[in-house]
Amino acid sequence: MPIIVVLGAGVSGLTCALELAKQGGHEITVVAKHMPGDYDIEYTSPWAGANVLPMALDKDSRWERRTWPVLRRLAKEVPEAGLHVQTARVLRREKDVATGLKAALADGLFQFDPWYKEVMDNFREIPANELPKGMHSGCEFMSVCINTAIYLPWLVGQCAKYGVQFKRGIVKHISQAHNLSHTGKKADIVINATGVLACKLGGVMDKAVYPARGQIVVVRNEAKGFMPTSSGCDDADDEIMYVMQRALGGGTILGGTYMRHNWDPNPDPNIAVRIMKRAVEAHPELTDGKGIEALSIIRHGVGLRPAREGGVRIEKEKIDGTWVVHNYGHAGWGYQGSYGCAEKVVELVDEIVKQEKRQSKL
Ligand code: FAD
Repeated sequence: MPIIVVLGAGVSGLTCALELAKQGGHEITVVAKHMPGDYDIEYTSPWAGANVLPMALDKDSRWERRTWPVLRRLAKEVPEAGLHVQTARVLRREKDVATGLKAALADGLFQFDPWYKEVMDNFREIPANELPKGMHSGCEFMSVCINTAIYLPWLVGQCAKYGVQFKRGIVKHISQAHNLSHTGKKADIVINATGVLACKLGGVMDKAVYPARGQIVVVRNEAKGFMPTSSGCDDADDEIMYVMQRALGGGTILGGTYMRHNWDPNPDPNIAVRIMKRAVEAHPELTDGKGIEALSIIRHGVGLRPAREGGVRIEKEKIDGTWVVHNYGHAGWGYQGSYGCAEKVVELVDEIVKQEKRQSKL
């Protein structure tokens, strides 16, 4: 039975472990410095909203296309997973359209006639008479919002149900992960799901990986109806506006920022005020028109999206004689692409196993 170590317990590592475990026939150990329940600047997944706003261009859309049906099913049929259905509202500002939408931080999301109109349920263009002031155009579709504080532990539980073992560990070099299987034997394959830390991990040291700092405010106020996001804002080029209400009492996430190459773990109070002002302007019912003073703050947060020049890295590589399958660099779409990426990881693992069997090594 092939022995697999998954390095990383964020949404990428956990989803890979689950999909491999469901397939059967592997001994799987998840090893990580941080696990669900931890909040740390080196651990991105707990800080995400998270929702589904397709960001890829059509040519790179496999990950999001393959993930959406799974998240939709979980939201509709598995309430304990911590997802619920919400309408997403994507708005293009007149001033951003006038400059060719160059400032928009997601390549695919704000495109006219986007590929995802065929994929996302209940897609509709918003008629001009329904657009907020200053907006050129926009669309709405059925999406989900994930309460990451529920969903990540749920993934751990699902993995455990299929026999995956978990242990804490910090490795300096990827080759050390080979020795961390719970079986006590050397792993045949290591899945590298180390997120933004892939740029610091020995044997990988991927210099194309960098943080895209996201600051958020989590509040108790409810954002009813829909999850808005707009193509830009007047405050700064690396600031954005989005609002989403989490399932199962998880509060409402007000975002945010997308600050490239910025590792600062501390919430900036000035940015926080701007985030809250933008959110209340887009969603006045958050505070019944009373302004940001009426927001009830649960916490301020900062997470580092694992961005990568050239996009996500999902490929196999032999390092120091052992197979490694990389799955990192998901930037701001790690949840909404998680099952699509895990599917590719399973394919790569199958290829390795077949190849090694041919050579009678497994
Ligand atoms: P991580 O969650 O960072 O996990 C990395 C794991 O690797 C951790 O367990 C860590 O401890 C472990 N690790 C790393 N190095 C080592 C080592 N050397 N030894 C041992 N363990 C190690 N995505 C969406 O899809 N939708 C959204 O709405 C969304 N909103 C976001 C909002 C914000 C503010 C932020 C910050 C992100 C958002 N994202 C969203 C992006 C998403 O959160 C990330 O893409 C995703 O969490 C990345 O997950 P990961 O598992 O690759 O990395």
